[in-house]
Amino acid sequence: MSATTVGITFKVLPAAKRVAASERARILANPGFGKVFSEHMAVARWNRGQGWHDAEVRAYGPIPIDPGTSVLHYAQAVFEGLKAYHQQDGRIAVFRPDANARRFQRSARRLALPELPEAAFVEAIDLVVGLDADWVPVEPEHSLYLRPFMYASEVNLSVHPSDEVTFVLIASPSGSYFPSGVKPVTVWLSEDFIRAAPGGTGEAKTGGNYAGSLLAQSQAAEQGCDQVVWLDAIEHRWVEEMGGMNLFFVFGRGASARLLTPKLTGTLLPGVTRDALLSVGKDLGYEVEEGRISVEEWRAGCADGSLTEVFACGTAAVITPVGAVKSAHGSWLVSDGKPGAISMRLRQALVDIQRGAAPDRHQWMHPVPVRSF
Ligand SMILES: *Cc1c(COP(=O)(O)O)cnc(C)c1O
Repeated sequence: MSATTVGITFKVLPAAKRVAASERARILANPGFGKVFSEHMAVARWNRGQGWHDAEVRAYGPIPIDPGTSVLHYAQAVFEGLKAYHQQDGRIAVFRPDANARRFQRSARRLALPELPEAAFVEAIDLVVGLDADWVPVEPEHSLYLRPFMYASEVNLSVHPSDEVTFVLIASPSGSYFPSGVKPVTVWLSEDFIRAAPGGTGEAKTGGNYAGSLLAQSQAAEQGCDQVVWLDAIEHRWVEEMGGMNLFFVFGRGASARLLTPKLTGTLLPGVTRDALLSVGKDLGYEVEEGRISVEEWRAGCADGSLTEVFACGTAAVITPVGAVKSAHGSWLVSDGKPGAISMRLRQALVDIQRGAAPDRHQWMHPVPVRSF
C-alpha cells in the first residue's frame, strides 16, 4: 500500500515480525515516558535538487549515521511533541496535529531547514498510529506520545544550511505524568542563565534550546527544586517559561478569576497547550489575558493573596501546579502550596476533550482513519 499527499508518497512496509500481544501488554502496563517505542516509524528524505522523496513507513529501528553528519556537529534540527489518545467511543484521535505541523514549519524556517507540508506531517501520523493502533494505551491519562523530528543529514563539516535533510516520526507509549496524583512542583528562578534572547531561537522547537538549559536545570536540582523558571534575557525580571512548559498565573478566585500567561515576545515557545487553555479558560467563563508579569509582581501577589494559583502547561503533563518558588533572593509559597481549584478544573476540562469525554467545540481532535495495511 502507499499513501500520497501533495506529492509525497509514503510507501507502507509493515514490519514482518510483530511483538506478541502478551509482551505488548506487559510493556503497556508501565510504559513510563520516552523509554519504549511502538513498532513502526515514518522516514522521509529531502535534498535541494529533488525536494522530499523516499518517504516510507517501516519497522522501527536504528538509523545508521556517518560520523561526519552535519547535525552531530552543528545541531541543525527541530522536533515536535504531540499525543494520540484512546477516545471513549473506541476511536483513536490526535490532539491538534495541524497546529504542531505549522509550528514544525515555523521551527524549520528558523533553523534554515525545509518545510514539511502540513498534509505530509498529518499523513505520517495517520499511518504510524494506524499501524500501531494497538500501542495506544487505553488507561486514562496514558497516551501514545508522537515525536516528529528533522535533522541535517548531509555528511559535511562545512557550516551551511544542509543540502540533505531527514524527517522521522517515532511513537512512544507513555504512562501518567503523575502516577500518584497531581503533585505541585517547586521552581528555581534562574538568574545566572537564560534560555532565549531576542533574535535567537527561543520560539523554535529545537534541541539546542534544551542543551543550553541543562546546566540551569542541574542548578535548580541542587537547590532542591524540580524545575527552572526562565526570565527575560535583558532585565532578568519578566517571567517567560518553566523548563519545557509555558506558565499561567491565576488572580482572584471563583467565577471572577483572571488568567494571565506571558505574551509571545519571540523568546517564548508558543505552546499548543497554552493556546488551547486560553480558549478553555474563556469557555469556562474566566477572563484570560496574554501579558507580562515580573518576579516582583509574582512575589507581591502571593504575599497579598491576589495571585492565587500558578501552573505550567505542556503536552506531557497537560497542567502542572507550581507550589513554591525559590531564588537567590528568597523563597515563597503560591497560596498554601497545594494544587489550585482553577488549575485542576482547567486540567480536567482539557483532559476530557482529549479523551473524547467532553464536546470538542473547537474541532481539536483529529480521528485517525481506520485502514487496512
Ligand atoms: C514544547 C514546549 C512547550 C510546550 O508546548 P506544547 O505544544 O504545549 O507541548 C513549552 N515550552 C518549551 C520550551 C517547549 O519546548
